[in-house]
Amino acid sequence: MHPPHSFYVRLSLPEKLRPLLELALNLYWRREQETAYLFRRLDPGLWEEAGHNPVLFLHLLPQERLQAYAGDGDYTREVERVWQEHLAYQERQVTWLQEHNLSGNVAIAYFSAEFGLSAALPIYAGGLGLLAGDLLKSASDLGLPLAGVSLLYREGYFRQRLDRQGRQQELYPRYNFYDLPLELERRADGTPLTVQVAFPDREVKAQVWRARVGRLNLYLLDADCRDNWESDRGITDRLYGGDLEKRIQQEILLGIGGVRALAALGRETTICHLNEGHSAFLALERIRQLKEKHGLDFAAARELAASGHIFTTHTPVAAGIDLFPPYLMDKYFTGYYQSLGLSRQEFLALGRQDPNNQQEPFNMAVLALRLSAWANGVSRLHGRTARRMWRNLWPEVPEEEIPIGAITNGVHTPSWVGSRMAALYDCYLGPGWREEPAEAASWAGVEHIPARELWQAHEEQREELVVYARRKLAAQLEARGSGSLEIAAATEVLHPRALTIGFARRFAAYKRPALLFSDPERLARILGDPQRPVQIIFAGKAHPGDEEGKKLIQQIVAYAGRKEFRRSVVFLEDYDLEMARCLVGGVDIWLGNPRRPLEASSTSGMKAVLNGALHVSTMDGWWDEAWTPATGWAIGRGEVFDDVPYQDAVEAAQLYDLLEKEIIPLFYTRDEEGLPAGWLERMKKSIKTYGPVFNTHRMVQEYSRQFYLPAAALYQRLEAGRQERARNLAAWKNRVQAGWPRVRVERVEDDGGGELDLGSTLTVRAWIFLGELQPPDVKVEIYYGLLEAAAEITAAEKETMKLEEELGEGRYLYSGAIPCRRAGRQGYNVRVLPYHVDLAHPLQAGLILWG
Ligand SMILES: *Cc1c(COP(=O)(O)O)cnc(C)c1O
Repeated sequence: MHPPHSFYVRLSLPEKLRPLLELALNLYWRREQETAYLFRRLDPGLWEEAGHNPVLFLHLLPQERLQAYAGDGDYTREVERVWQEHLAYQERQVTWLQEHNLSGNVAIAYFSAEFGLSAALPIYAGGLGLLAGDLLKSASDLGLPLAGVSLLYREGYFRQRLDRQGRQQELYPRYNFYDLPLELERRADGTPLTVQVAFPDREVKAQVWRARVGRLNLYLLDADCRDNWESDRGITDRLYGGDLEKRIQQEILLGIGGVRALAALGRETTICHLNEGHSAFLALERIRQLKEKHGLDFAAARELAASGHIFTTHTPVAAGIDLFPPYLMDKYFTGYYQSLGLSRQEFLALGRQDPNNQQEPFNMAVLALRLSAWANGVSRLHGRTARRMWRNLWPEVPEEEIPIGAITNGVHTPSWVGSRMAALYDCYLGPGWREEPAEAASWAGVEHIPARELWQAHEEQREELVVYARRKLAAQLEARGSGSLEIAAATEVLHPRALTIGFARRFAAYKRPALLFSDPERLARILGDPQRPVQIIFAGKAHPGDEEGKKLIQQIVAYAGRKEFRRSVVFLEDYDLEMARCLVGGVDIWLGNPRRPLEASSTSGMKAVLNGALHVSTMDGWWDEAWTPATGWAIGRGEVFDDVPYQDAVEAAQLYDLLEKEIIPLFYTRDEEGLPAGWLERMKKSIKTYGPVFNTHRMVQEYSRQFYLPAAALYQRLEAGRQERARNLAAWKNRVQAGWPRVRVERVEDDGGGELDLGSTLTVRAWIFLGELQPPDVKVEIYYGLLEAAAEITAAEKETMKLEEELGEGRYLYSGAIPCRRAGRQGYNVRVLPYHVDLAHPLQAGLILWG
């Protein structure tokens, strides 16, 4: 029965235990393990039952238990100690910005369709969400004024079970939001705060929940409100669930609803960071609001809004991007684009690579790129891939100059280091690795960790993993209805001392989870060596619509069931954040073998190396920039063959070779103390090399320096007064765009005579016709470098040319010089670019003219 009325009974805790409630409502604890232990101690069984969700746990815990502990002095002192530490963190005044004399009136909203913060809040599917969660935690640590915005999914992402044939089953439990670490945002009169978005023939409402993440807030929109049509209450039921129409509804709510929620909450926001294109409709709503607020036209409002938008793309393949057919755009946006003052054609062009192609669907990444002044990929290699992928949007611009930068992903260091390793770091590294993980000095102490202690801590974490894996395996076999013998056998799989390989990630074809099984006999020989045993733990979900991914799971499960692999290959169901922690904490080798360049970054390997695991991967994502011969192993050197099966065969062979010739011998070569000295040496080098770099502190600092602060400064400049400069910039762009087709490089001359001496300079003169444009509107450059056989300029450099003479009738003479610093055949060209002080990037407008 659906009860017509409901009410919520607020929890009441004894005075001395009140801090527990505050702690329970914060998703980020500075002292994670100690805080979790406060709860666990009250009832370890119930803590497991509640899935480590402290709010649900407190709801379920009998009042008598609380009363009893309130009288336990040891316990209440511990609560007080953790509480004081939490308060000190929450109230810390000095921020990283102040420490580095960086300032700017920034207020950042970080939009993401998913956030992976805690297993207790299952609104994440994978890497994108985990990155958002870790970013939020680092932003809190650094005191950045940032708020997260996302959707609250009633059924979260699916829970994975496998049937007896190894086929993935998707379960969708319905979460009770009152049992989650969330608070409903209310108006002054106590009624829930709601925002509305217009859908065909109706308004859809969403209420707003707040999750606390350390010192920051994450706002989550929830369409499951009584006022909505029954069908609309399901808009936010599942993350990435449903058809294309459901997807556009979710993205309208996230982007447009999200901006409205910030406004309704009274949060002035100037900077919006788009974590992938799902939230890109926010750019339209920001333009609409600025237009209305300041009485701007679309073009000026667009300049102003875009100056504060940062777009981070995570997708190296076109198939990963949301595309909406024009009929859906018409259905949901006809009224909306009219309110922006745009025609249908102008509106749809914002999401099209070719603005004149009427058939082209509306592309969310194109929308994001067109309406963000700042953009980046998530590793250096992915930056290059993204520039190539989107070069159509900037025709004639050399690929390396496409305005999409690269900021490599990271992980939130203290969240991913296991308890034994953390204790070791606290002892030998001091507090720096937690407080300032991006400083190399914080990791210098790794050298001082005695080999024996390092090995012991690592082995203890491996043992914990083996125990965890056996328990999980037994539970999943039981749930699957397996026989008692099989369940009992689960307690004997894996060996706590064997070389352990972890492979856990979304199951998708390009990640090649079955690559290790390319030659099952060879693998069986490797794993089955009684002197030097090796074992592998797999985990990962396949997207519900990805049949190929599901087949790969089935394949692994089938191998794991074979006699020769039964004790050494395990597939754990329902990969989530907690399982990831156990895995990255306990493995010796973290394996990744994606097909380059399809993995934009990947972050699980970063979590593993923080725990002393060694990383083995193809040269893709972060590993392409991180690998060194002393710190890990590379499968191949980044070669890409057209023949995919051939590529797979070559890389599988390389992987087997690495295992047989390098990895296994190094692991099992022990000194007189029984320690793998060479292995430990590598562990130390790896921790010391990667610790300071691949973390979200470094990443957030880079986002701040490269984007947030310059964006805030530009936004302020454009907005100042009566948005004078935004209006001027828009008018200037308009004028330059109109005048550009007439601009010509009429003649180019140099004084070189074909051959020059090293160290001399080549003077170049160019006659430029600018038509209606003026010299201050443009920059004239010499673009030069070594000439390849194909007559392409490589490693190009640029020199700005000086205006020498105004020749009249729109003609100008420019000159400049090329310093001859390198020998060999060189080439140059002259080009004209638009120039304006308020352009975030000279090539942003996409205009360029070559001689
Ligand atoms: C870190 C993490 C990911 C992302 O890992 P990739 O290496 O990017 O695939 C996915 N899921 C969970 C649960 C994680 O903890």
